[in-house]
Formats: sequence, structure tokens, C-alpha cells
Amino acid sequence: MSVIQRIATLGTGPRLLSRRSSALRPRTDGLTPTVSVCPYCAVGCSQLVYTRDGRVVSIEGNPASPINRGTLCPKGSATAQLVQNPLRWTTVRYRAPHADVWEYRPLEWAMERIARRVKETRDATFVDVDAAGRRVQHSLGIAHLGGATLDNEENYLIRKLWAALGVLQVENQARI
Ligand code: SF4
Repeated sequence: MSVIQRIATLGTGPRLLSRRSSALRPRTDGLTPTVSVCPYCAVGCSQLVYTRDGRVVSIEGNPASPINRGTLCPKGSATAQLVQNPLRWTTVRYRAPHADVWEYRPLEWAMERIARRVKETRDATFVDVDAAGRRVQHSLGIAHLGGATLDNEENYLIRKLWAALGVLQVENQARI
């Protein structure tokens, strides 16, 4: 008796697959993946992104990567939702101080308000010379925490912006 026959007698193995199960194909069948990098944290796991007609079909860990060797954590496995989750907010929502309702606001309004508040806070907390007479030219009134989906270039520009404003407390979620 062959090994396969012996396994079959144990109630396991490919011989026991139904015709329907045998005909099933993986959803990535025939698709060529695009190699990418998970944007969520500093581990930098390599991903295989399978697409069909412009939509992500599946994102899997890249077995060729020495970093993650084909694995992804739950966050990395859900990366497709960054671009095609219908529940994801894509508009600005604002809750005024002491209010209990959220309002829809235009993006331009939010950008203007954020810029104005940053400028006001920075000017109000800017320290030119410290108590010991040293020129420090900084503001401790603002701290910035970046998101893990920011890429290198975005983080570079954000760091330059805050440095130009004298803001020292700059961190990114991907490093925490
Ligand atoms: S979030 Fe998970 S999958 Fe993405 S890089 Fe970090 S460990 Fe890897």
C-alpha cells in the first residue's frame, strides 16, 4: 500500500477531497503581485499586493523577505482597508469645544484653522532667550505625533516644518 493510500485509510489526505473542493482555486490565482512595504510600523514587513481591475484582492507577507519571511501581523494583513474600506472617514468632522455633536466642515476650513491655531500657540509660547540668558528660540507649547502611514519623505518635510517653527517635541507612532 502506497503512503497516499495509507493516509487515505486514516481519513485524511488529498484523495478525500470532494470534486468541488479539488476544483477550488485561490483568489490570487493567475495574478502577479506587486512587492510593497507595510506602512504601519518600523518593522517594515515586505508585502505582496495582488490586484484585479484596479482593486486590491489580497495582501500577503512576502516569503522572500528576510524581515518577515512571509508573515504579516493583523494590522499589516488589513492594509487593503487603507484604500478600499467604505466605512473609512474621508471628510473633515469637527466638534466644537463643549459641543456634543460632530459637524461636517470643508477641508479648506480645517487647514486654515489648524494653521491659525499652530501659529497662535507657537507665538504665545515662543522662548527666545532662556532664564540663563542662552538663546534657545524654541516653543514647548506644541508637540507633534505622526502616524505610521507617513512615509520617509513626508516625515522629512514634517520635521523641517516643525524645526523651522522651533518646535522640539516631534515623534512618530512608528518609532514608539
Ligand atoms: S504593522 Fe505588522 S505587518 Fe506592518 S510592518 Fe509592522 S509588524 Fe509588519
